[in-house]
Amino acid sequence: MFALADCNNFFASCERVFRPDLEGKPVIVLSNNDGCAVARSNEAKALGIKMGDPLFKIKDIIEQHHVAVFSSNYALYGDMSRRVQEVLRDWAPAVEQYSIDESFLDLRGAMIPDLDGWAKDLSRTCRKMTGIPLSIGVAPTKTLAKIASKLCKKYPKLQGGCYMHRPQDIEKVLRKFPVEDVWGIGRRSVKKLSQMGVATAWDFTQLREYEVRKGFALPGWRTWKELRGEPCIDFENLIEPRQTICVSRSFAKEITDPAELCSQVATFAEAAVTKLRRQGSLLMEMIPFAMTNRFHENEPQTFASRLTVFPEATDDHAVIIVAAVSAVRAFFNECYGYKKAGVLFTRLVRKDGYTRSLFRDAEEDARQARLSEAIDSVTAVYGPGALRFGVQGDGQIRMARERQSPHYTTLWKDIPKVTIR
Ligand SMILES: [Mg+2]
Repeated sequence: MFALADCNNFFASCERVFRPDLEGKPVIVLSNNDGCAVARSNEAKALGIKMGDPLFKIKDIIEQHHVAVFSSNYALYGDMSRRVQEVLRDWAPAVEQYSIDESFLDLRGAMIPDLDGWAKDLSRTCRKMTGIPLSIGVAPTKTLAKIASKLCKKYPKLQGGCYMHRPQDIEKVLRKFPVEDVWGIGRRSVKKLSQMGVATAWDFTQLREYEVRKGFALPGWRTWKELRGEPCIDFENLIEPRQTICVSRSFAKEITDPAELCSQVATFAEAAVTKLRRQGSLLMEMIPFAMTNRFHENEPQTFASRLTVFPEATDDHAVIIVAAVSAVRAFFNECYGYKKAGVLFTRLVRKDGYTRSLFRDAEEDARQARLSEAIDSVTAVYGPGALRFGVQGDGQIRMARERQSPHYTTLWKDIPKVTIR
Protein backbone atom coordinates (compact mmCIF):
# COMPACT_ATOMS: atom_id res chain seq x y z
CA MET A 1 0.00 0.00 0.00
CA PHE A 2 0.99 3.60 -0.63
CA ALA A 3 -0.14 6.75 1.11
CA LEU A 4 -0.23 10.32 -0.14
CA ALA A 5 -0.09 12.99 2.54
CA ASP A 6 -1.20 16.37 1.22
CA CYS A 7 -1.24 19.53 3.33
CA ASN A 8 -4.59 21.31 2.97
CA ASN A 9 -4.33 24.82 1.48
CA PHE A 10 -0.72 24.71 2.59
CA PHE A 11 0.47 28.35 2.42
CA ALA A 12 -2.79 29.66 3.88
CA SER A 13 -2.61 27.02 6.62
CA CYS A 14 0.98 28.05 7.49
CA GLU A 15 -0.13 31.65 7.92
CA ARG A 16 -2.94 30.53 10.21
CA VAL A 17 -0.71 28.52 12.53
CA PHE A 18 0.63 31.77 13.94
CA ARG A 19 -2.58 33.73 13.56
CA PRO A 20 -5.21 31.59 15.28
CA ASP A 21 -7.56 34.58 15.07
CA LEU A 22 -7.86 33.75 11.35
CA GLU A 23 -9.28 30.27 11.98
CA GLY A 24 -12.55 29.95 10.07
CA LYS A 25 -11.92 33.20 8.17
CA PRO A 26 -11.01 33.64 4.50
CA VAL A 27 -7.23 33.80 3.92
CA ILE A 28 -5.29 34.11 0.67
CA VAL A 29 -1.56 34.15 -0.14
CA LEU A 30 -0.20 36.07 -3.13
CA SER A 31 2.51 35.14 -5.63
CA ASN A 32 5.84 36.99 -5.77
CA ASN A 33 5.46 40.76 -6.09
CA ASP A 34 1.91 40.40 -4.77
CA GLY A 35 0.59 39.48 -8.22
CA CYS A 36 -2.15 36.89 -7.84
CA ALA A 37 -3.70 34.43 -5.41
CA VAL A 38 -1.66 31.21 -5.17
CA ALA A 39 -3.23 29.73 -2.03
CA ARG A 40 -6.71 30.04 -0.59
CA SER A 41 -8.33 28.82 2.59
CA ASN A 42 -11.63 26.94 2.17
CA GLU A 43 -13.52 30.10 3.18
CA ALA A 44 -11.73 32.08 0.44
CA LYS A 45 -12.55 29.35 -2.10
CA ALA A 46 -16.19 29.55 -1.03
CA LEU A 47 -16.17 33.28 -1.85
CA GLY A 48 -15.35 32.37 -5.44
CA ILE A 49 -11.68 33.41 -5.38
CA LYS A 50 -9.92 31.27 -7.99
CA MET A 51 -6.36 30.01 -8.15
CA GLY A 52 -4.31 32.59 -10.05
CA ASP A 53 -6.85 35.43 -9.75
CA PRO A 54 -4.92 38.72 -9.93
CA LEU A 55 -5.15 40.90 -6.83
CA PHE A 56 -6.83 43.84 -8.60
CA LYS A 57 -9.60 41.58 -9.88
CA ILE A 58 -10.63 40.38 -6.42
CA LYS A 59 -10.19 43.68 -4.58
CA ASP A 60 -13.91 44.12 -4.00
CA ILE A 61 -14.41 40.63 -2.59
CA ILE A 62 -11.43 41.17 -0.28
CA GLU A 63 -12.81 44.42 1.10
CA GLN A 64 -16.36 43.24 1.40
CA HIS A 65 -15.56 39.97 3.19
CA HIS A 66 -12.46 41.07 5.13
CA VAL A 67 -10.25 38.50 3.45
CA ALA A 68 -6.81 38.29 5.13
CA VAL A 69 -4.18 38.79 2.40
CA PHE A 70 -0.54 37.73 2.74
CA SER A 71 2.51 38.16 0.52
CA SER A 72 4.27 34.82 0.08
CA ASN A 73 6.69 33.95 2.88
CA TYR A 74 8.71 31.01 1.53
CA ALA A 75 11.04 30.95 4.53
CA LEU A 76 8.03 30.14 6.69
CA TYR A 77 6.50 27.61 4.27
CA GLY A 78 9.82 25.81 3.74
CA ASP A 79 10.34 25.46 7.46
CA MET A 80 6.77 24.29 8.12
CA SER A 81 7.16 21.74 5.32
CA ARG A 82 10.30 20.41 7.01
CA ARG A 83 8.36 20.00 10.26
CA VAL A 84 5.58 18.07 8.52
CA GLN A 85 8.25 15.83 6.93
CA GLU A 86 9.66 15.06 10.37
CA VAL A 87 6.28 13.84 11.59
CA LEU A 88 5.78 11.72 8.45
CA ARG A 89 9.19 10.10 8.84
CA ASP A 90 8.21 8.94 12.32
CA TRP A 91 5.14 7.23 10.92
CA ALA A 92 6.26 5.46 7.76
CA PRO A 93 9.24 3.31 6.78
CA ALA A 94 9.97 5.47 3.72
CA VAL A 95 8.90 8.96 2.67
CA GLU A 96 9.27 10.58 -0.74
CA GLN A 97 8.70 14.32 -0.76
CA TYR A 98 6.86 15.11 -3.97
CA SER A 99 6.44 18.86 -3.54
CA ILE A 100 6.55 21.43 -0.75
CA ASP A 101 3.18 20.23 0.53
CA GLU A 102 2.85 16.64 -0.71
CA SER A 103 4.66 13.41 0.16
CA PHE A 104 4.24 9.77 -0.75
CA LEU A 105 4.69 7.17 1.98
CA ASP A 106 5.70 3.62 1.12
CA LEU A 107 3.78 1.25 3.39
CA ARG A 108 4.82 -1.99 1.69
CA GLY A 109 5.97 -4.39 4.36
CA ALA A 110 4.71 -2.19 7.19
CA MET A 111 2.58 -4.16 9.67
CA ILE A 112 -0.30 -1.77 10.17
CA PRO A 113 -3.48 -3.68 11.05
CA ASP A 114 -5.91 -0.78 10.64
CA LEU A 115 -4.78 1.51 7.83
CA ASP A 116 -7.87 3.69 8.00
CA GLY A 117 -7.32 4.38 11.70
CA TRP A 118 -3.60 4.85 11.05
CA ALA A 119 -4.28 7.55 8.43
CA LYS A 120 -6.71 9.41 10.69
CA ASP A 121 -4.27 9.19 13.62
CA LEU A 122 -1.42 10.52 11.50
CA SER A 123 -3.54 13.43 10.33
CA ARG A 124 -4.53 14.27 13.89
CA THR A 125 -0.92 13.97 15.13
CA CYS A 126 0.45 16.21 12.39
CA ARG A 127 -2.14 18.84 13.19
CA LYS A 128 -1.18 18.66 16.86
CA MET A 129 2.59 18.75 16.30
CA THR A 130 2.79 21.31 13.48
CA GLY A 131 -0.61 23.01 13.26
CA ILE A 132 -0.96 21.95 9.62
CA PRO A 133 -4.06 19.98 8.50
CA LEU A 134 -3.22 16.93 6.37
CA SER A 135 -5.29 14.80 3.98
CA ILE A 136 -4.00 11.24 3.83
CA GLY A 137 -5.12 8.82 1.15
CA VAL A 138 -4.09 5.17 1.39
CA ALA A 139 -4.48 2.87 -1.62
CA PRO A 140 -2.77 0.08 -3.58
CA THR A 141 -1.06 2.53 -6.00
CA LYS A 142 0.28 6.08 -5.86
CA THR A 143 -2.30 7.31 -8.38
CA LEU A 144 -5.19 5.86 -6.36
CA ALA A 145 -3.68 7.23 -3.12
CA LYS A 146 -3.80 10.71 -4.64
CA ILE A 147 -7.48 10.26 -5.43
CA ALA A 148 -8.16 8.98 -1.90
CA SER A 149 -6.49 12.06 -0.41
CA LYS A 150 -8.75 14.30 -2.50
CA LEU A 151 -11.75 12.52 -1.00
CA CYS A 152 -10.58 13.57 2.48
CA LYS A 153 -10.79 17.21 1.41
CA LYS A 154 -14.26 16.75 -0.01
CA TYR A 155 -15.67 14.83 2.94
CA PRO A 156 -14.71 16.26 6.36
CA LYS A 157 -16.31 13.25 8.05
CA LEU A 158 -13.30 11.18 6.89
CA GLN A 159 -11.28 13.16 9.48
CA GLY A 160 -8.27 13.56 7.23
CA GLY A 161 -7.73 9.87 6.46
CA CYS A 162 -9.15 7.61 3.77
CA TYR A 163 -8.18 3.98 3.12
CA MET A 164 -9.49 3.00 -0.30
CA HIS A 165 -8.76 -0.60 -1.25
CA ARG A 166 -11.89 -2.70 -1.87
CA PRO A 167 -12.49 -3.02 -5.63
CA GLN A 168 -16.16 -2.07 -5.28
CA ASP A 169 -15.22 1.12 -3.37
CA ILE A 170 -12.57 2.03 -5.91
CA GLU A 171 -15.06 1.56 -8.73
CA LYS A 172 -17.64 3.73 -6.99
CA VAL A 173 -15.11 6.53 -6.52
CA LEU A 174 -13.61 6.34 -10.02
CA ARG A 175 -17.05 6.43 -11.63
CA LYS A 176 -17.52 9.92 -10.20
CA PHE A 177 -13.94 11.14 -10.56
CA PRO A 178 -13.34 13.41 -13.61
CA VAL A 179 -10.51 12.00 -15.72
CA GLU A 180 -8.84 15.41 -16.02
CA ASP A 181 -8.30 15.47 -12.24
CA VAL A 182 -6.32 12.21 -12.30
CA TRP A 183 -2.62 12.61 -11.47
CA GLY A 184 -0.58 12.22 -14.66
CA ILE A 185 -3.35 13.05 -17.13
CA GLY A 186 -2.17 16.10 -19.06
CA ARG A 187 -4.25 18.70 -20.82
CA ARG A 188 -3.48 17.22 -24.22
CA SER A 189 -4.65 13.77 -23.20
CA VAL A 190 -7.92 15.20 -21.89
CA LYS A 191 -8.87 16.37 -25.36
CA LYS A 192 -8.11 13.01 -26.88
CA LEU A 193 -9.93 11.23 -24.06
CA SER A 194 -13.08 13.27 -24.52
CA GLN A 195 -13.04 12.38 -28.22
CA MET A 196 -12.89 8.74 -27.17
CA GLY A 197 -15.90 9.27 -24.92
CA VAL A 198 -13.88 9.07 -21.70
CA ALA A 199 -15.17 11.46 -19.03
CA THR A 200 -14.37 9.75 -15.74
CA ALA A 201 -11.37 7.89 -14.34
CA TRP A 202 -13.53 4.75 -14.51
CA ASP A 203 -14.16 5.21 -18.25
CA PHE A 204 -10.40 5.39 -18.73
CA THR A 205 -9.80 2.10 -16.89
CA GLN A 206 -12.35 0.44 -19.19
CA LEU A 207 -10.34 1.17 -22.36
CA ARG A 208 -8.54 -1.82 -23.85
CA GLU A 209 -4.84 -2.01 -23.15
CA TYR A 210 -3.95 -1.80 -26.87
CA GLU A 211 -6.06 1.38 -27.22
CA VAL A 212 -4.17 2.97 -24.35
CA ARG A 213 -0.79 1.88 -25.68
CA LYS A 214 -1.65 3.13 -29.15
CA GLY A 215 -3.23 6.42 -28.10
CA PHE A 216 -0.97 7.52 -25.26
CA ALA A 217 2.69 7.57 -24.40
CA LEU A 218 4.22 5.47 -21.65
CA PRO A 219 3.04 7.71 -18.78
CA GLY A 220 -0.59 7.36 -19.93
CA TRP A 221 -0.28 3.58 -19.98
CA ARG A 222 1.24 3.68 -16.51
CA THR A 223 -1.62 5.80 -15.19
CA TRP A 224 -4.13 3.36 -16.72
CA LYS A 225 -2.46 0.43 -14.93
CA GLU A 226 -2.20 2.33 -11.66
CA LEU A 227 -5.92 3.18 -11.76
CA ARG A 228 -6.57 -0.54 -12.22
CA GLY A 229 -4.66 -1.20 -9.02
CA GLU A 230 -1.30 -2.30 -10.40
CA PRO A 231 1.54 -0.23 -8.92
CA CYS A 232 4.03 0.86 -11.58
CA ILE A 233 5.28 4.29 -10.57
CA ASP A 234 8.52 3.83 -8.68
CA PHE A 235 8.99 5.00 -5.17
CA GLU A 236 11.91 7.40 -5.07
CA ASN A 237 13.30 6.80 -1.67
CA LEU A 238 16.59 8.56 -2.18
CA ILE A 239 16.50 12.22 -3.02
CA GLU A 240 18.86 12.65 -5.94
CA PRO A 241 20.94 15.82 -5.82
CA ARG A 242 19.69 18.39 -8.30
CA GLN A 243 21.40 18.62 -11.67
CA THR A 244 20.80 22.36 -11.95
CA ILE A 245 19.99 25.12 -9.47
CA CYS A 246 18.23 28.33 -10.41
CA VAL A 247 17.47 31.33 -8.22
CA SER A 248 15.67 34.19 -9.94
CA ARG A 249 13.13 36.86 -9.09
CA SER A 250 11.04 39.56 -10.74
CA PHE A 251 11.50 42.99 -9.24
CA ALA A 252 8.76 45.33 -8.10
CA LYS A 253 10.23 48.06 -10.36
CA GLU A 254 12.64 47.94 -13.28
CA ILE A 255 16.28 48.29 -12.24
CA THR A 256 18.38 50.79 -14.21
CA ASP A 257 21.34 51.16 -11.85
CA PRO A 258 24.22 48.71 -12.53
CA ALA A 259 25.29 48.61 -8.86
CA GLU A 260 21.78 47.72 -7.82
CA LEU A 261 21.47 44.91 -10.39
CA CYS A 262 24.86 43.59 -9.25
CA SER A 263 23.74 43.54 -5.63
CA GLN A 264 20.55 41.68 -6.56
CA VAL A 265 22.35 39.06 -8.64
CA ALA A 266 25.00 38.67 -5.91
CA THR A 267 22.19 37.92 -3.45
CA PHE A 268 20.69 35.33 -5.83
CA ALA A 269 24.13 33.76 -6.28
CA GLU A 270 24.51 33.60 -2.50
CA ALA A 271 21.17 31.79 -2.16
CA ALA A 272 22.13 29.38 -4.95
CA VAL A 273 25.49 28.65 -3.29
CA THR A 274 23.64 27.79 -0.07
CA LYS A 275 21.58 25.21 -2.00
CA LEU A 276 24.69 23.92 -3.77
CA ARG A 277 26.57 23.41 -0.50
CA ARG A 278 23.59 21.82 1.22
CA GLN A 279 23.44 19.06 -1.37
CA GLY A 280 27.22 18.55 -1.38
CA SER A 281 27.90 19.57 -4.99
CA LEU A 282 30.51 21.70 -6.70
CA LEU A 283 29.82 24.17 -9.49
CA MET A 284 31.57 24.07 -12.88
CA GLU A 285 29.40 26.38 -15.03
CA MET A 286 26.79 29.02 -14.40
CA ILE A 287 24.72 31.54 -16.34
CA PRO A 288 23.85 34.83 -14.63
CA PHE A 289 21.05 36.57 -16.54
CA ALA A 290 18.71 39.57 -16.58
CA MET A 291 15.76 40.55 -18.71
CA THR A 292 13.47 43.47 -19.40
CA ASN A 293 9.71 43.61 -18.87
CA ARG A 294 8.17 41.76 -21.81
CA PHE A 295 4.78 43.32 -21.12
CA HIS A 296 6.12 46.80 -21.86
CA GLU A 297 6.05 46.26 -25.59
CA ASN A 298 6.95 49.84 -26.46
CA GLU A 299 10.22 49.77 -24.55
CA PRO A 300 13.46 48.20 -25.81
CA GLN A 301 13.70 44.53 -24.88
CA THR A 302 16.63 42.33 -24.02
CA PHE A 303 17.53 39.03 -22.48
CA ALA A 304 21.14 39.32 -21.34
CA SER A 305 23.18 36.41 -20.03
CA ARG A 306 26.76 35.25 -19.82
CA LEU A 307 28.09 31.74 -19.48
CA THR A 308 30.77 31.54 -16.81
CA VAL A 309 33.06 28.50 -16.73
CA PHE A 310 35.11 27.92 -13.58
CA PRO A 311 38.66 26.63 -14.12
CA GLU A 312 38.21 24.51 -11.01
CA ALA A 313 34.87 23.18 -9.70
CA THR A 314 33.95 25.22 -6.63
CA ASP A 315 31.43 25.76 -3.85
CA ASP A 316 33.13 28.87 -2.54
CA HIS A 317 30.82 31.81 -1.80
CA ALA A 318 33.40 34.47 -2.71
CA VAL A 319 34.50 32.87 -5.98
CA ILE A 320 30.95 32.35 -7.24
CA ILE A 321 29.58 35.72 -6.15
CA VAL A 322 32.50 37.61 -7.68
CA ALA A 323 32.05 35.72 -10.97
CA ALA A 324 28.29 36.42 -10.99
CA VAL A 325 28.88 40.14 -10.42
CA SER A 326 31.50 40.37 -13.17
CA ALA A 327 29.07 38.72 -15.57
CA VAL A 328 26.42 41.33 -14.77
CA ARG A 329 28.94 44.17 -15.21
CA ALA A 330 29.85 42.72 -18.60
CA PHE A 331 26.31 42.47 -19.95
CA PHE A 332 24.71 45.47 -18.24
CA ASN A 333 23.45 48.06 -20.70
CA GLU A 334 22.04 51.36 -19.47
CA CYS A 335 19.48 51.50 -22.30
CA TYR A 336 17.37 48.90 -20.54
CA GLY A 337 15.31 48.63 -17.38
CA TYR A 338 15.74 45.13 -15.96
CA LYS A 339 12.58 43.55 -14.55
CA LYS A 340 13.88 40.10 -13.70
CA ALA A 341 17.26 38.56 -13.01
CA GLY A 342 18.80 35.40 -11.69
CA VAL A 343 21.58 32.86 -11.72
CA LEU A 344 21.38 29.41 -13.21
CA PHE A 345 23.93 26.82 -12.12
CA THR A 346 24.15 24.54 -15.12
CA ARG A 347 26.94 22.05 -14.46
CA LEU A 348 27.32 20.46 -11.05
CA VAL A 349 29.58 17.65 -9.88
CA ARG A 350 29.64 15.69 -6.63
CA LYS A 351 32.00 17.07 -4.04
CA ASP A 352 33.08 13.74 -2.60
CA GLY A 353 35.47 12.11 -4.98
CA TYR A 354 36.36 15.33 -6.81
CA THR A 355 40.10 15.65 -7.43
CA ARG A 356 41.53 19.13 -7.23
CA SER A 357 44.26 20.34 -9.53
CA LEU A 358 47.79 19.59 -8.40
CA PHE A 359 48.84 23.20 -8.71
CA ARG A 360 46.30 24.68 -6.29
CA ASP A 361 47.58 26.45 -3.20
CA ALA A 362 46.22 24.05 -0.56
CA GLU A 363 46.66 26.54 2.26
CA GLU A 364 44.74 29.25 0.45
CA ASP A 365 42.00 26.74 -0.43
CA ALA A 366 41.67 25.72 3.21
CA ARG A 367 41.39 29.34 4.28
CA GLN A 368 38.64 30.01 1.73
CA ALA A 369 36.83 26.84 2.80
CA ARG A 370 36.86 28.02 6.42
CA LEU A 371 35.33 31.35 5.38
CA SER A 372 32.53 29.59 3.49
CA GLU A 373 31.89 27.29 6.45
CA ALA A 374 31.69 30.31 8.74
CA ILE A 375 29.12 31.90 6.41
CA ASP A 376 27.09 28.66 6.46
CA SER A 377 27.00 28.50 10.24
CA VAL A 378 26.09 32.17 10.72
CA THR A 379 23.35 31.80 8.08
CA ALA A 380 22.02 28.68 9.77
CA VAL A 381 21.52 30.59 13.03
CA TYR A 382 20.68 34.14 11.98
CA GLY A 383 19.02 33.55 8.62
CA PRO A 384 20.08 34.38 5.06
CA GLY A 385 21.65 37.81 4.61
CA ALA A 386 22.78 38.19 8.23
CA LEU A 387 26.40 37.92 7.05
CA ARG A 388 26.94 39.03 3.46
CA PHE A 389 29.42 40.38 0.97
CA GLY A 390 29.66 44.15 0.50
CA VAL A 391 28.50 43.84 -3.10
CA GLN A 392 25.16 42.46 -1.90
CA GLY A 393 24.27 45.86 -0.45
CA ASP A 394 21.46 45.60 2.11
CA GLY A 395 20.80 42.01 0.94
CA GLN A 396 17.12 42.81 0.35
CA ILE A 397 15.51 41.61 -2.85
CA ARG A 398 13.65 44.39 -4.64
CA MET A 399 10.32 42.62 -4.52
CA ALA A 400 6.95 43.90 -3.47
CA ARG A 401 5.81 41.96 -0.44
CA GLU A 402 3.96 44.51 1.53
CA ARG A 403 1.79 42.06 3.35
CA GLN A 404 4.36 39.47 4.37
CA SER A 405 3.97 37.80 7.74
CA PRO A 406 6.97 37.58 10.13
CA HIS A 407 9.49 34.74 9.76
CA TYR A 408 8.07 33.13 12.89
CA THR A 409 10.20 29.99 12.80
CA THR A 410 13.42 31.04 11.06
CA LEU A 411 14.44 34.44 12.50
CA TRP A 412 15.11 35.07 16.19
CA LYS A 413 13.66 38.57 16.02
CA ASP A 414 10.37 37.24 14.59
CA ILE A 415 9.67 34.54 17.17
CA PRO A 416 6.10 35.01 18.41
CA LYS A 417 5.80 36.41 21.92
CA VAL A 418 3.28 34.89 24.30
CA THR A 419 2.06 36.80 27.30
CA ILE A 420 0.84 34.69 30.20
CA ARG A 421 -1.30 36.52 32.67
MG1 LIG B 1 -1.94 20.73 -0.91
